[in-house]
Amino acid sequence: MTHDPTDRFVHVRGASENNLRDVDLDLPRDAMVAFTGVSGSGKSSLAFGTLYAEAQRRYFESVAPYARRLLQQVGAPHVREITGLPPAVALQQRRGAPSSRSTVGTLTTLSNLLRILYSRAGTYPEGAPPLAAEAFSPNTVAGACPTCHGLGEAHDVAEDLLVPDESLSIRDGAIAAWPGAWQGKNLLRVTKAVGIDVDVPWRELDRKDRDWLLYTDEQPRVLIDRRGEADDTTGRDYHGTFWSARKHVRHTLADTKSQMMRDKAMRFVRSTVCPVCHGTGLQPESLAVTFRGLSIAETSALTFAELATFLRPESEDGEGEVARRLTQDIVERVEVLLDLGLGYLALGRSSTTLSPGEAQRLRIATQLRSGLFGVVYVLDEPSAGLHPADAEPLLDVLDRLKDSGNSLFVVEHDLDVVRRADWIVDIGPGAGEAGGQVLYSGPVAGLEEVGDSVTGAHLFGRVAPLERHGRTPHGWLHLHGVSRHNLTDLSVDLPLCVLTAVTGVSGSGKSTLVTQVLAELVRRHLGQAPDDAEDSELEIDVHDVTGLESFDRLVRVDQRPIGRTPRSNLATYTGLFDAVRKVFAATPEAMARGYGVGRFSFNVAEGRCETCQGEGFVSVELLFLPGTYAPCPTCRGARYNAETLEITWHGLTIADVLDLTVEQAVDVLAGTPAAARSLQTLREVGLGYLRLGQPATELSGGEAQRIKLATELQRARRGHALYLLDEPTAGLHPADIALLLRQLHRLVDAGNTVVLVEHDLDTIATADWVIDLGPGGGDQGGRVVATGTPADIAGTAGSATAPYLARHLH
Ligand code: ADP
Ligand code: ADP
Ligand code: ZN
Ligand code: ZN
Repeated sequence: MTHDPTDRFVHVRGASENNLRDVDLDLPRDAMVAFTGVSGSGKSSLAFGTLYAEAQRRYFESVAPYARRLLQQVGAPHVREITGLPPAVALQQRRGAPSSRSTVGTLTTLSNLLRILYSRAGTYPEGAPPLAAEAFSPNTVAGACPTCHGLGEAHDVAEDLLVPDESLSIRDGAIAAWPGAWQGKNLLRVTKAVGIDVDVPWRELDRKDRDWLLYTDEQPRVLIDRRGEADDTTGRDYHGTFWSARKHVRHTLADTKSQMMRDKAMRFVRSTVCPVCHGTGLQPESLAVTFRGLSIAETSALTFAELATFLRPESEDGEGEVARRLTQDIVERVEVLLDLGLGYLALGRSSTTLSPGEAQRLRIATQLRSGLFGVVYVLDEPSAGLHPADAEPLLDVLDRLKDSGNSLFVVEHDLDVVRRADWIVDIGPGAGEAGGQVLYSGPVAGLEEVGDSVTGAHLFGRVAPLERHGRTPHGWLHLHGVSRHNLTDLSVDLPLCVLTAVTGVSGSGKSTLVTQVLAELVRRHLGQAPDDAEDSELEIDVHDVTGLESFDRLVRVDQRPIGRTPRSNLATYTGLFDAVRKVFAATPEAMARGYGVGRFSFNVAEGRCETCQGEGFVSVELLFLPGTYAPCPTCRGARYNAETLEITWHGLTIADVLDLTVEQAVDVLAGTPAAARSLQTLREVGLGYLRLGQPATELSGGEAQRIKLATELQRARRGHALYLLDEPTAGLHPADIALLLRQLHRLVDAGNTVVLVEHDLDTIATADWVIDLGPGGGDQGGRVVATGTPADIAGTAGSATAPYLARHLH
């Protein structure tokens, strides 16, 4: 097939990546094409795995011919031919963890522009030489604060940690950081010898003496005269050296090999804002440069909304042409972010604290200004995580990308977004092997005629609305005076034994309230360990809480990965793999060879493939590209060595079992109760299409969340647990949402309390209770706008959720 330049279509022939069944397809360019279908039907395999992967492969071949051999190892997508495919840019959610040094400013490239502005148009102190743009970045040698090396943080001992009890005297051990035994006694003697009273309470010593004892760098050597000491048994004089508490702690941290000693020393250290750069990470020379009276650190701390106001008007007296051009450019970019409802974010905010929806909108806005045209943008659910009020401006931005001559391929579940597409590709009918076919490709209206399309049924209203329960609460949890992020002195009541949806636009405070405040208060009440190191030091400011005793368990079902390496998978996470390994170890051949349960673990040396250490993959380093995985050349992904694979059970090797989908495994493992129960619940949450061995790293956030939910359901008993879920419906087809909600309502029926942060209107409509936060994001939010039944909320003036919910409920 040769390509005709007047042909406005991309032609795909024989696509068979993952579950795709030899798909032939023609897609319009310069249009918005929506890819729809239930989870696991093959949307991503087509949009990302085939179209984007092929565009990327061609690009790398053209720029880096030497990378060809490596690219072959990674593998080209399984497709016979694609013609008319423009270069592609993928804007994917979730996958790939952002580095901790990246910020909103670096993601949007606005930090670079600000640095150029300060370098070229800043006001320098008298006689100071102009600085290069890099000197305004804490991540460069030229710009970093010499004290904290650009980190903005200093680690130092603190008096309240060194001396936890000020009523003690030095002799009684006021300085907790001092060592014990002979060294401790020595320090006490030296202190006495230099004339400091070791028998009065610490708090009665002079400030000067206290500081000297704790912080001095001096190390006086004094003659110790031990006559008269009560416990003096050896009696000889000696020269004793003094160490301040700080010196002792630093010395321990630098020298000791004992983890216990390190841990002890760390108890006296606190990380604080670097006193030299005040946390900005910048050297003093850079901080001295201003623009309109603010340093670059001060400008970076502004929210986008404030930054736009600060830089408009685009020119002030005496600023010159360079300043005018740069401020104009920055303001135009910031305005796109304001349009997208992100005015509450500041440039300096670390990208690790952004929600996936926020990060994706930042990337989309950045693309809009990049001036590319003739490109296909492949997007993963741009509306996920967005309140309908935030989705509208995003769709306008996507329209602008299209109008400037680009194509949009969008994997999407939200029917309101799908309705706006120019073209729809519906894949199905089911998931995994039951999917992989194109049911329809054409203008949206034509899908109505396609009988076996689940998407069509939902899109054209042929599906009964979800069941509404309208339960009444069995009591309340009262929170009074909560402050954290933008929540200030908030009071809110949470109903028990019902399903509550917490709603509101992006940045209104939903996650702060649910996944931080509520989770932390209940966790502490129950004495449970934090889920994650990041969560361990949340400072929650709360005046009063009542009703915590209603819960005997806290369960957070979030979208964090079930594991960070390909070693964790569905089977290991749910525990069903233990049952499978027992079955293999109990076969006559395994018993004859003396293979135990451990032999069938790909984490244990005996049984696994040594080339890939049981991962099934080897990582391939492409010179200047992010590292990627290729199947292991020895075991071809099986993970086990040849001997282990000689053992079969019902004709299957252990690798074959890991290759089964949940759906297939339900039959194969029906006789193994411990595994059958897990498999049943996985199927009930709509994950029948996943393979048991699918690595954690290949699962989407939504899949990880449903695996966690299934694992919970399989052990669920009647009880008083609090279940917290952050956007459980993100990434789910309406048909999958129905399955998920049935399970959540089952938990409530068993006596538990379920709280969801949610944007999906179908889901909100089935909740028993709604807490609507807002009215806006950041400073404009953080308040309870309305609480009540979905119908109550729909009738509340001033709620951003109300108009959408009202349309939905009628
Ligand atoms: P969707 O995007 O519609 O949810 P996917 O394209 O992600 O569906 O998945 C389609 C099928 O391909 C599913 O059965 C899924 O388990 C399988 N699959 C997805 N990624 C991989 C992979 N990297 N290797 C093997 N199978 C995969
Ligand atoms: P929502 O979940 O409704 O989108 P969030 O609870 O994430 O809202 O955010 C509420 C406010 O708190 C926003 O102004 C946001 O910028 C701020 N915020 C959230 N997380 C952090 C953080 N880690 N550091 C600083 N500010 C934060
Ligand atoms: Zn510093
Ligand atoms: Zn291998």
